[in-house]
Amino acid sequence: MSIPLKSIALVFASFVAPAIVSPGIAHSDTQVDPQTALKMLNSQQQQFQKGVVQVTDNVFTAVGFHGANTSMIVGKDGVIIIDTLKGPQSAKEAFEALRVHSDKPVKAIIYTHSHGDHIGGASAFVGEEMPDIYGTENFGSAEGTTKAAGPVKQKRNVRQFGRKLSPMESTNRGVAPALTADHDGGNGFVPPTIQVPDDGLKTTIAGIKLEMHVAPGETDDAMFIWLPEGKVLFSGDNFYSSFPNLYAIRGTAYRDVRSWSESVAKMAEFRPSHLVPGHTMPILDAEAAVTALTDYSRAIRSVYDQTVRGINAGKGPDQIAHEVKLPADLRDEPYLIEFYGSVPHATRAIYSGLLGWFDGNPTTLNPLEPKIKAQKIAELAGGTQQLSQQMQAALDKQDYQWALELSDHMKWLDGADRPLARKVKIAALRGLAAQEYNAPNRNYYLSYANELESGELSEIWF
Ligand SMILES: [Zn+2]
Repeated sequence: MSIPLKSIALVFASFVAPAIVSPGIAHSDTQVDPQTALKMLNSQQQQFQKGVVQVTDNVFTAVGFHGANTSMIVGKDGVIIIDTLKGPQSAKEAFEALRVHSDKPVKAIIYTHSHGDHIGGASAFVGEEMPDIYGTENFGSAEGTTKAAGPVKQKRNVRQFGRKLSPMESTNRGVAPALTADHDGGNGFVPPTIQVPDDGLKTTIAGIKLEMHVAPGETDDAMFIWLPEGKVLFSGDNFYSSFPNLYAIRGTAYRDVRSWSESVAKMAEFRPSHLVPGHTMPILDAEAAVTALTDYSRAIRSVYDQTVRGINAGKGPDQIAHEVKLPADLRDEPYLIEFYGSVPHATRAIYSGLLGWFDGNPTTLNPLEPKIKAQKIAELAGGTQQLSQQMQAALDKQDYQWALELSDHMKWLDGADRPLARKVKIAALRGLAAQEYNAPNRNYYLSYANELESGELSEIWF
């Protein structure tokens, strides 16, 4: 059916009652009909419902106070805090909720890794006495190699997390709520005072025996924490309820996917009775916890192995991204649905992580520059006017991805109707967004559409 531009805007007005929206052509496994996409994202919301979860007699986890979780372990003469949220304001609020269960002094703070949403609120937990603060030896290496690209990473971060979307457009961030207090992000960070060596650390704090195990995955500086007495495992961000973000579209250095799988397998070997993730709800059943970790490790490894097989069969990333699938018996597990990470994105990251940008096909050694290619595509279509018609026809058919690709050619052509190309691109992005249940993709499409519409992007970016 044809869908005029104006009614694309209605897709968003119709979020409350989306019955009028019909499905477009899906180009990836995370694209479904808009009603289903919205329903799925709404149900994922339960994973970060705000509140304190009692994990065991002496372990409490505050979920949904910011993007990540913060936990408190109550010992004899003090408490231990694991992760501290992004800024002091939300950390203070979470700590007050945890404080209902103990007012003992904070003896230690442990950072599972150095991502900002886990370390920026530490000052809210520090009382009169300075606690020991634990991090791995290479703590802080998470974003190190990509710092030079900071300005553009910041823009892409805003899009991935939908930070500037209106309440009407917002759903969530896959493993975190849509709206978080970020104004004080990083303000409460207190650097680690004790370095956990590569072979880990076993210690007793406030009478609580605990182990810290170095476990590279989402970041190279990640570790998990094991409480032998309560059989509680704190996974940091190497496990949460969603297919893992093996690549972040905000832009990251290569995340060592193979190590990630191995780190999660190592966690499963502890056979925890309680699993506390860095984001999303704790799993409070021994069998469920071990199954989830085992499946998670296997899913990551499967994506890695399939990608490597594709690479060695001489396939390029575009083909591999469309061919690699999660094993059939894992695909529907609630903790492996692609709300946050994306299988095709992971395959591309693995490809470039192992081989760099070149796909092995000599055609791509020196491809045509975009403007020349656009001119040749226009010639092939019978002229710029015909190309423009094809672009509109693609949008009318809700073939959104093709409409995007043609609008990108149009922007390079002298004499093309650029305002029209821009409108088509905006509409196609919104059409794709409505079908997406992968939150970063959805947020990115919507944010980019808004940026284009507001005119804040330059001609180059359009
Ligand atoms: Zn996190």
